[in-house]
Amino acid sequence: MQVAIFQLSLFGINTYVVFDTATDKCAIIDPGMINTREQNAIRQFIEAKTLEVTHIINTHLHIDHSIGNTWAVKTFGAPVLAHKDDEFLGRSLSAQAAAFDVSGQVDNVTIDHYLTEGEEIHIGEGVLKVLHVPGHSPGSVVLYDEKDGFIIAGDVLFAGSVGRADLPGGNMQQLISGIKSKLLTLPDSTVVYPGHGTATTIGREKRFNPYLAS
Ligand SMILES: [Zn+2]
Ligand SMILES: [Zn+2]
Repeated sequence: MQVAIFQLSLFGINTYVVFDTATDKCAIIDPGMINTREQNAIRQFIEAKTLEVTHIINTHLHIDHSIGNTWAVKTFGAPVLAHKDDEFLGRSLSAQAAAFDVSGQVDNVTIDHYLTEGEEIHIGEGVLKVLHVPGHSPGSVVLYDEKDGFIIAGDVLFAGSVGRADLPGGNMQQLISGIKSKLLTLPDSTVVYPGHGTATTIGREKRFNPYLAS
């Protein structure tokens, strides 16, 4: 599958549209669009490519990644997927908004389908495999396209860093051990698309990420 990146204003979050060119199906991953301009950028991309949105996937339910779920559901009518262990965050999205000084109406997120470890999400002929890597949040998942060699990493792994573990349900030891066992074991060439900042590769992070030195 191919990956389009939209860097959005709220905490500089990356929203991804992952699409299968054989069938023109796509998934929106981490809908962080917060205003009309950001909504239009994503809608225009999807319309220009005549894509059909089959899934709205949340790597986790922190507000910067999930504030656009309501708009995405209303606009594209696709189901919302997330791990059950982050449901408490989706239910408190309006409270998260208050805590992070986000203004305006923020709706809580209702999960239509619970993601589980090892599950395969089919987007047309493309497949994203779910890897549950808790520690940044309890329900954080990484989405792995084995055929095209990339992961959508949410706030689990960044270029030169890892997710913070000081938010509710966070655990640094659990995060590091999950990254080592589930992500660093992927091929070195695997491209990492993180929730913030620039893309990297598993091989580069294995060598240079100071949090992962063993
Ligand atoms: Zn987060
Ligand atoms: Zn984030």
